[in-house]
Amino acid sequence: METNVYRSYMLYNYKQIPHISKITDDEREAIEVVGRVLPFKTNNYVINELINWDSIPNDPIFNLNFPCREMLLRRHYNLMKKTMDKNASQEEIARVIKRIRSELNPNPSGQEYNIPAVDGIELKGVQHKYRETVLFFPSQGQTCHAYCTFCFRWPQFSDMHNFKFAMKENELLVKYLKTHPKVTDVLFTGGDPMTMTAKIMASYIEPLLAEGMEHIQTIRIGTKSLAYWPYRFLTDNDADDVIQLFEKVIKSGKNLAIMAHFNHPVELSTEAVKQAIIRIRSTGAQIRTQSPLLKNINDNPDVWAEMWRKQVNLNCIPYYMFVERDTGAKQFFEVPLERCWNIFRKAYQSVSGVCRTVRGPSMSANPGKIQILGVTEVAGEKVFVLRFLQGRDPDWAARPFFAKYDAKATWLNQLKPAFGEEKFFYEDELNHIKKK
Ligand SMILES: *Cc1c(COP(=O)(O)O)cnc(C)c1O
Ligand code: SF4
Repeated sequence: METNVYRSYMLYNYKQIPHISKITDDEREAIEVVGRVLPFKTNNYVINELINWDSIPNDPIFNLNFPCREMLLRRHYNLMKKTMDKNASQEEIARVIKRIRSELNPNPSGQEYNIPAVDGIELKGVQHKYRETVLFFPSQGQTCHAYCTFCFRWPQFSDMHNFKFAMKENELLVKYLKTHPKVTDVLFTGGDPMTMTAKIMASYIEPLLAEGMEHIQTIRIGTKSLAYWPYRFLTDNDADDVIQLFEKVIKSGKNLAIMAHFNHPVELSTEAVKQAIIRIRSTGAQIRTQSPLLKNINDNPDVWAEMWRKQVNLNCIPYYMFVERDTGAKQFFEVPLERCWNIFRKAYQSVSGVCRTVRGPSMSANPGKIQILGVTEVAGEKVFVLRFLQGRDPDWAARPFFAKYDAKATWLNQLKPAFGEEKFFYEDELNHIKKK
């Protein structure tokens, strides 16, 4: 291998990083202040292999990992800074952190409506929003190898217990799945399930291969580990066990899909990630890729086209381009919907059909995944053309609908129906579903 092989995963307090001299005093202050509110964590691979320290603070991976001042609203930043400067008690600091976090929309898209129950017991680590697919949040996987500054799951890593999805009661999941024969997919998510040991992963996955689970055809694992810690599949102590577990799933006759999160082509450029992809693919597992479109990180059609081409080159399947969710540091990352569509369109136009398995830009909003098909004019009115890729009601999928054009809109809640209509076609039913 050309690049370093890390056999041990090292976490850094930012003050210990070898490149600290490149971070200005002002930036250090921001890491301290913003890092109190949004969780911060980085590791040796990200620092040494992915970040280009000659281009900070504008390096995309630096922005993906290190908090900066603009990631908080000015009033939140000032409040946090003032509280820290006056040597407030731990309790007061904690109160301020909690207050700021509560104003950052910690639970976007009404996820609480997705929690099902078995025998009257709420499954706190399960979300079942779309008929075919159940999300599972294993307790031991609710952390990541490094934290993204754009993360929409940040309450999973903060002490915000009301907003945390997690459970370790595998029997309840199995019981739920047995009584839901229409579910074909179980998606392990987090955090990052690949932070679990192979042994714990097996304890969750193997029961899904057993008798009575024939309807579960696809097991998916949502993970950022290929981008942040590819050694999970190469040199970690139980890397071989992970690979054997994947082989076991494939041998059982099910599809195994690694839903890999890549936000920038740099993450696909090291020897380690290439080897990790080859190793995963050798098991028969597929790798599908997804990412939000993020200002200051990847808001450029060339970056996306390069990313999709590299992915296809490496035998991965481009899957989703998301619109940045309305939570956390959204003002730093958000891109107006029209610009999202333009970036998608230009990138899509410049790649061949094998990359066009990607769908987007898509908003994962309360009613479902809504794709922006484009901006056009209908009967003299400028409109957004939209459609559901996934809906709380399966019947909503693939129906075009229209919203009034709005140059500034960055999220569904800012859109109004076109042609003077009072509501979108799905709204009555959505209200009905929510009341249930
Ligand atoms: C995206 C998503 C899924 C998976 O949807 P697919 O289109 O099948 O990939 C499942 N559940 C939730 C809540 C989601 O947001
Ligand atoms: S890898 Fe995913 S869950 Fe983990 S910090 Fe990044 S966005 Fe959040």
